[in-house]
Amino acid sequence: MSEVPSHTEEKFLPDKLHEECGVFGIFGHTDASALAALGLHALQHRGQEAAGIVTYDGKHFHAERKLGLVSDTFTDSRILEQLTGKAAVGHVRYSTTGETVLRNVQPLFADLAGGGFAIAHNGNLTNALSLRDELVMQGAIFQSTSDTETILQLVARSKRDNTLSRFIDTLFKIEGAYSLVVMTNKKLIGARDPLGIRPLVLGKLDGHYILASETCALDIIGADFIREVENGEIIVITEEGLESIKPFPPRQARPCIFEYIYFARPDSIVGGLSVYECRKNFGRQLAKESSLNADVVIPVPDSGVPAAIGFAEASEIPFELGIIRNHYVGRTFIEPQQSIRAMGVKLKHNANRLLVNGKKVVLVDDSVVRGTTSVKIVQMMREAGATEVHMRIGSPPITHPDYYGIDTPVEKELLAANNNLVDMCNYIGADSIAFLSIDGLYKAMGHKNGRDRINPAYTDHCFTGDYPTQLRDQKDDNHIRQLSLLS
Ligand code: AMP
Repeated sequence: MSEVPSHTEEKFLPDKLHEECGVFGIFGHTDASALAALGLHALQHRGQEAAGIVTYDGKHFHAERKLGLVSDTFTDSRILEQLTGKAAVGHVRYSTTGETVLRNVQPLFADLAGGGFAIAHNGNLTNALSLRDELVMQGAIFQSTSDTETILQLVARSKRDNTLSRFIDTLFKIEGAYSLVVMTNKKLIGARDPLGIRPLVLGKLDGHYILASETCALDIIGADFIREVENGEIIVITEEGLESIKPFPPRQARPCIFEYIYFARPDSIVGGLSVYECRKNFGRQLAKESSLNADVVIPVPDSGVPAAIGFAEASEIPFELGIIRNHYVGRTFIEPQQSIRAMGVKLKHNANRLLVNGKKVVLVDDSVVRGTTSVKIVQMMREAGATEVHMRIGSPPITHPDYYGIDTPVEKELLAANNNLVDMCNYIGADSIAFLSIDGLYKAMGHKNGRDRINPAYTDHCFTGDYPTQLRDQKDDNHIRQLSLLS
């Protein structure tokens, strides 16, 4: 909730700025809108609250933005037929607190001096509120509460003489995490922040370029993966081809390690690594670090499955699907209220009793955030007759909030930020609990010596508090500044 009043906040009701998202763009393909819909469908795990596509047909821009899943809107052929044109950008979104309103649904679009400009953003700007306050003081009128609109406003106000230069000018003003896909009447543009915090890949289908958050969005349409967009790189795609611009001084990339733990789809390749293999390795490493005697390894589905396979393999304990997931319920976090979230866990999972009854169970999940899932699942195992329940987590304790686009709660709601291991174990009602160590996490990703304390290869701020950028708006008198939302 907003604790630091500002010009902006006084006028709005509380919400959070954080968004987790997936982006997609395609240039020059006759089936642009249908391919964008498929790409977004593959990225649905990155946001289930809303979806949008904007296309350009050589004369006009067309937009459709709706709350709900991609399949709720973009399987309707009438909608896709209205989205004419050979270029498209798309976006899937969720923000987990407060209501979602249609005007925040991306891609955002504006008619700028140089023509139409559509933008889809994955990430979160850490200075959006300061910039917004400045812009509002200068007379800017914001239509949404999304940090992405700040980019749009800055592009509109830049004094440079063409849209691309204005966009680049804007990138020098914003801080934090951004993987952007932009469409103008001539170009498709991809941009990744100087640290490459959120992913963005380049692909090709039938000779036409594609930009997407993850490789699984290329796979679904049979597109070839070309390469990742590099940290700090801008890719400009026109009818003439592709140009790469690197306006920032070179820096070592710090992609977000949480993509490997939870966020990215296991069949995606991120930073040259198979997300699935990484997760299995987290489980193997976890077994090395906290082995025990047990009868069965049970994953918390679906997110804990790869780590549980690795754990079972390394500990030579049989792996069983001791919890069955109902696939017709969304991800736990998507429910905006804690009470509903807790209920979501019950709706989602059920014990496979015969596999659990009378057994010493090792439960494996990818992460613990508030502990809601763990409490329910441990209780479920006990009710199903488990004699012992041991919790093993395929990542280190999450002690710090994320400000770069993955929705994690404020520090006081993070279980590991406020409790030691014994308290956590008591809280979730397990016989024991163990997390993967931070060095183990890096080892599992191929870094033999663990985490390099001086030059870590990833941003792992959720576990270490080592934030890779300034947090201009986030730490203000120790309050977390959050933008609010008009009802
Ligand atoms: P919690 O129940 O609050 O401890 O959350 C942990 C569960 O949520 C785990 O099963 C994770 O797979 C999943 N999870 C972890 N991080 C996130 C996130 N940022 N958004 C949604 N779900 C998450």
